[in-house]
Amino acid sequence: MQVWKFGGTSVGKPERMKSIRDLVTANDTRKIVVLSALSGSTNALLAIGEALTKGEKVAAKEQLVALRAHYDQFLTELFSTEEGLNEGKAIVEKEFGFIESLANLKIYTTKQDKQMVAEGELLSTQIFTAYMKEQGESVVLLPALEFMSIDADNEPELAKIEEKLGQILKGQSDKQILVTQGFICRNPRGEVDNLKRGGSDYTASLIGGAITAEEIQIWTDIDGMHNNDPRIVSRTFPVRELLFEEAAELAYFGAKILHPSTITPAKLKGVPVRLKNTMAPEAPGTVIKSETSGGAEIKAIAAKDNITAIYVHSTRMLNAYGFLRKVFDVFEKYKTPVDMITTSEVSVAVTIDNSENLDKIGEELRQFADLEEHDKDQSIICIVGNFLADKAGIAIKILEAVKHIPIRMISYGASEHNISLLVDTRHKNEALEALNEGLFTFE
Ligand code: ADP
Ligand code: ASP
Ligand code: MG
Repeated sequence: MQVWKFGGTSVGKPERMKSIRDLVTANDTRKIVVLSALSGSTNALLAIGEALTKGEKVAAKEQLVALRAHYDQFLTELFSTEEGLNEGKAIVEKEFGFIESLANLKIYTTKQDKQMVAEGELLSTQIFTAYMKEQGESVVLLPALEFMSIDADNEPELAKIEEKLGQILKGQSDKQILVTQGFICRNPRGEVDNLKRGGSDYTASLIGGAITAEEIQIWTDIDGMHNNDPRIVSRTFPVRELLFEEAAELAYFGAKILHPSTITPAKLKGVPVRLKNTMAPEAPGTVIKSETSGGAEIKAIAAKDNITAIYVHSTRMLNAYGFLRKVFDVFEKYKTPVDMITTSEVSVAVTIDNSENLDKIGEELRQFADLEEHDKDQSIICIVGNFLADKAGIAIKILEAVKHIPIRMISYGASEHNISLLVDTRHKNEALEALNEGLFTFE
């Protein structure tokens, strides 16, 4: 069995949804098909939620009407029979009825907002399943809310997911295509929750891991993982093969094509992940697995924004053992992951991307250390490849490429696959371009 995930743009237009039917039925492999919301829907639902949170009911209703009209039009172009169209209309009527009931509530909290944003995936999957049925395909919808769950730390409950999904699948052995929602899940209170923006990739990987799928395919609007951010850099190209470790670094450090956690469940079970382009299905895309055939030393670059750098100096100066532990205890207390670290004898600089508790962290650090002013609006640029310890000359190549750009921090040597630089976000685009020109050769 394989898991195929289609993102928002891949289901965003009726003709695209029709082509997904062609893709998933082109061979005999049984598939779990994970769908995102139609492109734009999640943003629209979040905007409606924001208006409701602010008490702007009229604005929320206007946006709701516009979104509904979009779905009504979508249905008329997708279905070709009256029966199919009626089925589609019934789905939209039911889900928009629920959205309206949320909009009419006196109190609108995070709980309702999570139900609101889940509607995108609930709509897309039901509409697609109805369309597949209309076309006579062997299909069933597996509600993700029955098996996908997270714990109190927002971490997916791998064992539970595996067990519940296993049970559900036992009853569906006669079905060829099993459709489910990406992104959405239940939290420990049993409420509707989600895996954060872009979370459908993560759903696909969690499912792929849970069933130890033959392969996980992430279908999107580009022909695989590019060597650099194609939204910023002009000359980028697809990377054909990546190790799990390399892809995980790229996803974590900002390659939007994958949700930051996508690789973890797949790597755990050794399930290959293939990135494919819905617009060009014949293109080879990128395969991510535990071994690759070698290839280039430097494979790809990604960048992560909204980073804050914190500079901590020990007040005890020399021989400050135990100092790092005390520093990291503070970050642990506030559940704030640290991305980059550099140290000297008496100082340590760290970066964080979640600055929600920055003030409290600063207050606690000041009890035993001096703090320099934080640097906000920083970007981590992550260079990924095979940087084996006995190889010489890679650092100079990188630094030579960005010699005209001020570098705040450098992290080298922690992993054989990652070299990171911290730059002010003002310099990010220029740094990405410069690294692209300096580190890759173009035909
Ligand atoms: P989907 O809606 O299918 O999940 P996303 O928009 O989340 O699609 O991800 C695909 C987009 O990721 C591409 O259109 C591209 O602009 C962006 N992207 C950013 N970095 C990379 C990269 N290194 N390689 C490929 N795509 C990237
Ligand atoms: N629809 C969700 C989002 O836009 C999840 C996803 O597309 O992966 O973030
Ligand atoms: Mg995405």
